[in-house]
Amino acid sequence: MSLARLIGGFVRRHWQSYASSAVMLVGVAICTVLIPRKVGALIDALAANQLGQHELLIGIAQLLGLGAAIYVLRVCWRIRLYSAAYNLGVELRTRLYARLAAQGPGFYQRQRTGDLMALATNDIDAIEMAAGEALLAAFDGTLTLVMVLGIMTLGVDWRLALVALLPFPLMGLAFWYISTHIHTAEGDALKRFSALNDHVQESLTGVRTLRALGLEGRSAQQFGELAGQAAQASLTAQKWEAAYEPAVGLALTAATGLTLGVGGYLVWNNELTVGALTSFTMYLGQLIWPMFAAGWVLTLIERGRAGLARLQPMLDIPLTVEDKGTIEQVGQGALVLDGVTFAYGGPDSKERPALTDVSVTLAPGQTLGLVGPTGAGKSTLLRVLLRQATPQRGQVSWAGHALADYRLNALRAATAWVPQESFLFSATIAENIALARPGASRQEIEQAAQMAAIHDDILRFPYGYDTPVGEKGITLSGGQRQRVAIARSLLADNALLLLDDALSAVDTGTETRILEHLAELRRARPERAAIIASHRLSAVIQADHIIVLRDGRVTEAGTHEQLLALDGWYASQWRYQQLEASLDAI
Ligand code: ATP
Repeated sequence: MSLARLIGGFVRRHWQSYASSAVMLVGVAICTVLIPRKVGALIDALAANQLGQHELLIGIAQLLGLGAAIYVLRVCWRIRLYSAAYNLGVELRTRLYARLAAQGPGFYQRQRTGDLMALATNDIDAIEMAAGEALLAAFDGTLTLVMVLGIMTLGVDWRLALVALLPFPLMGLAFWYISTHIHTAEGDALKRFSALNDHVQESLTGVRTLRALGLEGRSAQQFGELAGQAAQASLTAQKWEAAYEPAVGLALTAATGLTLGVGGYLVWNNELTVGALTSFTMYLGQLIWPMFAAGWVLTLIERGRAGLARLQPMLDIPLTVEDKGTIEQVGQGALVLDGVTFAYGGPDSKERPALTDVSVTLAPGQTLGLVGPTGAGKSTLLRVLLRQATPQRGQVSWAGHALADYRLNALRAATAWVPQESFLFSATIAENIALARPGASRQEIEQAAQMAAIHDDILRFPYGYDTPVGEKGITLSGGQRQRVAIARSLLADNALLLLDDALSAVDTGTETRILEHLAELRRARPERAAIIASHRLSAVIQADHIIVLRDGRVTEAGTHEQLLALDGWYASQWRYQQLEASLDAI
């Protein structure tokens, strides 16, 4: 979409604000052109000795009144207009946010966070300015230009106007040349700012790693270089912007010279009064604003176009996971994976698929254990169930319907997922747990925390459940974070619980307690199913069915006892982990 169409559509929706601003601007333009006319008339009356003290005072009062009216109208239109233009910023930011929220992990793998943040701030600011400041400055400038030119030609002397305006076409040519360079320079400045933003975001997120590796100096140097490049790009844009002013100055000086020359000649020949020449010179001065406005508008429009050129592709990137399903609720029934194959790079990629021909069935109330060496495809399988990844071959169905037939919200409402790296927001512990069910009572939150074996730890924090965590609060250990995330998922009370190595950072004693609590919960709600992906086999021994994934394929399947009897990877891993645990206990 072009900037003109975007702004056009916005203006149509907010036409009342724009129309009232335009009416006020017409008022400003009328008052503005009346002033030189009044001054010219006063001078001519003075020169002809026809102006008494009383008339002079009235004339001055009228001029002051016009000045005051211009002031009030200008303040009013600006307030009216900006409150409308800021809405465009809100609309665009909401659209961008909604799009970002709907994108899947594949999108975020390709995009840089700092870039997205720059789009939501700097680039949208640029578009907002084009819709507000630029649009009205363009209207104001054009209106003033037309009225001043009209009064110069029709109200004073058309010959003088024709000569005085000769330098302006040249100025227009210079404006066109400058604006094309501004477009490139502004695009570059926005891009450099994005890169700088990205570096800050990444360095702050990884500040501990940088410190541990002693890389602060290198990171600071990189920051300095990026900041320098961003400043240089902005400076280049500013240099081109600065070229507008001298062009206006040159054109006006030339016009004033021509006015005095030709105007003086006309006065000598008694074809023009001194008052009319004064009015004309004042009108010429009034052309400064439309000229500046033209330069300012071109700069803002080029900046807005550069911003939109960066924003639009982001809004147009197809959703990595389409939400085209129509079924609103997941019913009772088994979850079935039938011959599922998935490769991250797509079906034609040369990479080995992360999952190959995986088939498994999980009935309501059952627990499936998912084990295998690192990189075997455990997380990928869970991503397929979460519809973060769409299989290239095979079928996934739940309660008799393909996953794609459900609305994403329906699937999300039926599934609780605790990822390997659980994220806690900058809020209190209670708020973090209640995220899954904002209306939950304190008692329910505490119950969920007890189930996740984190309740006692929370009571030891300075403010208990009201202790803030994250950037502005305390930092939880990896195991505590995992258990808060588990509490959050249990509070949600969904039909399917997915734990992706979510017990890896807790000791085996706590792991056993949590697993016992989960078993209790399932007894209370027999239709609840769970999938536990884990490195540690102790997390899955109670599962109704266990599959072993290796290189994306199911190599072994059965209960704990059956797998031990098979004497394959599972049995040897079990013996190894048992030995490790007994050595740890010594
Ligand atoms: P771990 O136990 O170490 O978490 P995992 O069994 O969960 O491993 P996955 O994370 O599912 O394994 O990874 C399976 C394969 O897919 C690996 O070879 C991995 O490198 C690859 N992979 C995982 N995520 C991506 C991704 N986003 N893009 C490309 N390849 C990926």
